[in-house]
Amino acid sequence: MTENETSDSHPASTARPRVSGRIGAIAESATLAVDAKAKALKAQGRPVIGFGAGEPDFPTPGYIVEAAVEAARNPVNHRYTPAGGLPELKAAIVAKTRRDSDYEVAPEHVLVTNGGKQAVYQAFAAIVDPGDEVLLPAPYWTTYPEAVKLAGGVPVEVFADETQDYLVTVEQLEAARTDRTKVLLFCSPSNPTGSVYPPEQIRAIGEWALAHGIWVVTDEIYEHLTYDGARSVSMPVEVPALADTCIVLNGVAKTYAMTGWRVGWMIGPRDVIKAATNLQSHLTSNVCNVSQRAAVVALTEDLSAVQEMRVAFDRRRRAMVGMLNDIPGVQCPTPQGAFYVYPSVRGVLGKQIRGRVPTTSAELAGLILDEAEVAVVPGEAFGPSGYLRLSYALGDEDLAEGVGRIQKLLGEAR
Ligand code: PMP
Repeated sequence: MTENETSDSHPASTARPRVSGRIGAIAESATLAVDAKAKALKAQGRPVIGFGAGEPDFPTPGYIVEAAVEAARNPVNHRYTPAGGLPELKAAIVAKTRRDSDYEVAPEHVLVTNGGKQAVYQAFAAIVDPGDEVLLPAPYWTTYPEAVKLAGGVPVEVFADETQDYLVTVEQLEAARTDRTKVLLFCSPSNPTGSVYPPEQIRAIGEWALAHGIWVVTDEIYEHLTYDGARSVSMPVEVPALADTCIVLNGVAKTYAMTGWRVGWMIGPRDVIKAATNLQSHLTSNVCNVSQRAAVVALTEDLSAVQEMRVAFDRRRRAMVGMLNDIPGVQCPTPQGAFYVYPSVRGVLGKQIRGRVPTTSAELAGLILDEAEVAVVPGEAFGPSGYLRLSYALGDEDLAEGVGRIQKLLGEAR
């Protein structure tokens, strides 16, 4: 049936939008869009180098894969699990949270989700009512505002630029607080900036939230990817009284190179976890049983696999920051976490490069893809224009070649 046929046979339907307002308002994921464009060009045979990916370039460690293969052979795992997750996995998450964060929680505080992304959606769905304001430190991961809006909430951006290492202060948050403020979203180490909040600043922000009765949703998915001696600390550990109004988000994707397995979780107070579990029971039922079995092994074994990745990421991080800062007009703070760098390119905008004059980072990213065949994500995906996000989760040679091409192209700016 064509669109016309639909309208002809149901005249009333023409008066109504075909796609609901709620879903029609969701923006396409800009990071996935960049990745798709780069892959399409590659498929045409172009030598595109992609800095868009948000996933480690390493395979999942062999012992985790083996555990999954074994689990797939056992018919017990061909069935549904409880909607909230396998009891064994919840127990492993409780133990891991104690081991890595020194945070004491019970299985009733845990909900296993289809990746950290579903935990983000369910966290906001569980605590945000229409009209509630959610403070969103910017640059922010592109999914957060969409998840807030889907819950009827209003994202309120609080921007911190490169001169403050992209870290928001209590003063900035306080200036944005209103009597509608219900939640603060917090992410450290950060996607997209790679910034890591120092423990004192985490404590100060947690105490501020507690004092004003503001919930905190804290995303700790990059907790094990830190460099230069930086340390991830968990906000409800720094401010224990916050635990009753705090949701911690996490997952296996980044730590164990398991993005495709889709296992994440949320930790929160019992009533919120119960409500979110009810939601999930109608939305997706349980996470893939075999993936849950693999996650039990990932979380129970030691952290040597992530230590190896960290060494490679650290080497690439330093190489990339050095090369980017050599480009006139580009300013790249040295990030201490995750696997992204977030240079300001404002010094390049408005200049002429190969006959074009990009005035926004989105235009500049387009120019870089067309002329240098390098894919980067523009700052517009994460907040204000004027920045680029580059992932260093790719091989050292490609990294040097790709940044070299950007250096050469932007070196022509006049
Ligand atoms: N939080 C942040 C900050 C992320 O960058 C990502 C992945 N890009 C996620 C959560 C979700 O990861 P996943 O759904 O793959 O577990």
